[in-house]
Amino acid sequence: MSIIKPLDGGKHVKLSDFDPGHHNGLDREDAEAQSAKLLVELGELQELLYASQETSVLIVLQGLDSAGKDGTIDHIFRGLNPQSCHVASFKVPTPLECNHDFLWRIHEAAPQKGTIKIFNRSHYEDVLVVRVHNIVPEKIWRKRYDEINAFERLLTDNGTIILKFFLHISKDEQKERLLQREADPAKSWKLSVQDWKERELWDQYQAAYEDVLNICSKPHAPWIVTPANHKWFRNLVVAEAIVESLQPYRNDWEKRLNAIGQKEKELLAQMRQQK
Ligand code: AMP
Ligand code: MG
Repeated sequence: MSIIKPLDGGKHVKLSDFDPGHHNGLDREDAEAQSAKLLVELGELQELLYASQETSVLIVLQGLDSAGKDGTIDHIFRGLNPQSCHVASFKVPTPLECNHDFLWRIHEAAPQKGTIKIFNRSHYEDVLVVRVHNIVPEKIWRKRYDEINAFERLLTDNGTIILKFFLHISKDEQKERLLQREADPAKSWKLSVQDWKERELWDQYQAAYEDVLNICSKPHAPWIVTPANHKWFRNLVVAEAIVESLQPYRNDWEKRLNAIGQKEKELLAQMRQQK
């Protein structure tokens, strides 16, 4: 049973109902021990996913500046085999990308069978930053929710498991993290004036995220509102949700791989007999 219930779109939610500082009564040590076990299991599941070449996994990471997208990637995926686990980071679209529909660059980056793809920002920017800054008129971005839902349905119909994490931090926690970037020379490369400007639009972003969570949460492509003030709890929630979504496939993958191995052994035995 997940610590944080994924949203399936069945019930209207308000962001103010979610506490970014929530940690389910756990302390850091317990959470880190649980995460470490889950990450070992994730490694095993990744190998089965890769070997059976039937399914792919798409992890979408969204959150305001300093919410912990980079840190989550670093923590959760650093132990996986880089042959079958990749990150796509979506920035301001290039002129070429702008000359296509908004999903063009996204679809091209979708995971191949057998692999995990992490989207560090995603197609959701096209109903977040684009909406908050009026980059395109409302009549264009309004339609995008349905377009996103249809796109994600297409991916899941084609064997992609989709999990979307909204890394939810409080406004105070963001201020602290941005100030830390100024104080810590090792973090100063992350400093951006733009982050402070975006912070002034906090409420508009919260409203835009709330619409995303309500319109684009589906049982086959859930959003998980991840309490992210405590990095160790955030890591646990993400690790657990991914492992729980892959566990149901484990038996089938193992059976399939055993069957393939058995067949090859029989062929080998026949070949040796014929010699
Ligand atoms: P960062 O993730 O800090 O490297 O910043 C990437 C920047 O690209 C963020 O400010 C995003 O809002 C911006 N970005 C990503 N996708 C889009 C998009 N589709 N349209 C406009 N800006 C975008
Ligand atoms: Mg940034």
